[in-house]
Amino acid sequence: MARYTGPVCKLCRREGEKLFLKGERCHSDKCAIERRPYAPGEHGQGRRGKLSEYGVQLREKQKVRRAYGVLENQFRRYFEEAEHEPGITGENFLQLLERRLDNVVYRLGFATSRNEARQFVRHGHILVNGSRLDIPSYRVKTDDKIEVAEDSKSMKRMKEIAEYNEEKELPSWLQVDFNKLEGTVLTEPVRDEIDLPIQEQLIVEFYSR
Ligand code: SF4
Repeated sequence: MARYTGPVCKLCRREGEKLFLKGERCHSDKCAIERRPYAPGEHGQGRRGKLSEYGVQLREKQKVRRAYGVLENQFRRYFEEAEHEPGITGENFLQLLERRLDNVVYRLGFATSRNEARQFVRHGHILVNGSRLDIPSYRVKTDDKIEVAEDSKSMKRMKEIAEYNEEKELPSWLQVDFNKLEGTVLTEPVRDEIDLPIQEQLIVEFYSR
């Protein structure tokens, strides 16, 4: 399955929720879902029938998959892995998504969206434990040091982001030195600090059908 390359605001409007896919724009009055709070397409403003149980589960799964920017096959693999780990499957699953390097770069405030973070990783702007790592799905672990590469710190965009994100709230499992654009993973991600409203049980039910 190919990566979606169309207008990302449509994805938010389709899911009926802000998925924060466009950085600064998501927090401005230009946000498409604020201006057009209905589904895209010809029938978007019409009445939408009540979703079936399956439909509700599917939409929740799609919402989370789109928010993290993960393709379906990989998303399912995360779920299968989560099922085999001890603990609560839904929480394990969200932890695996949170531990992706692109998500951590976003959470640390080195990018304004996960999409931008993924691009930075792919383009070699991010170091993990001192080495360039260009794999967005790399799974961070406790004590990993994530930093912007020295030659990328002077990029105009990086300076804009640093200014924009200076006050960004950081989850307790991460630590950041914004002056140095360096961060550390302190522990496993904490479920309660995931900033999207997610009902992971619906995703568990979707894949358990
Ligand atoms: Fe979604 Fe951001 Fe577009 Fe708003 S601006 S619809 S939150 S991607």
